[in-house]
Formats: sequence, C-alpha cells, structure tokens
Amino acid sequence: MKSCKTCGKDFEGSAREFCSWQCEENYRHSLKKKLDDAIKHDKGHTQKLSKE
Ligand SMILES: [Zn+2]
Repeated sequence: MKSCKTCGKDFEGSAREFCSWQCEENYRHSLKKKLDDAIKHDKGHTQKLSKE
C-alpha cells in the first residue's frame, strides 16, 4: 500500500506515487505554481535591485 502524495489516500500499486491521474496533475500543477511564484518573486527582486 502506498499513500497518494496529493490527497493522502491509500492505494494499490508500486510504480506510481498518486492514486489517480487527477492527483498527479494536481501535484504537478501545484509544483509549477510554486516555481512560477518563485520566479516572479526573483524577477521582482532583481528589478527592484536594478532600479536602485
Ligand atoms: Zn490522490
């Protein structure tokens, strides 16, 4: 038994980390959002620095 990385539900299977493709999509989506936020934050920071 493994538990899904997104919703924490237990499921059968060895190769996958998620109980369903929806959970996999959600996980990737939230990862991407975190990355985008980090990039935005970096850009904002860089712009602020270059103006000063
Ligand atoms: Zn799940």
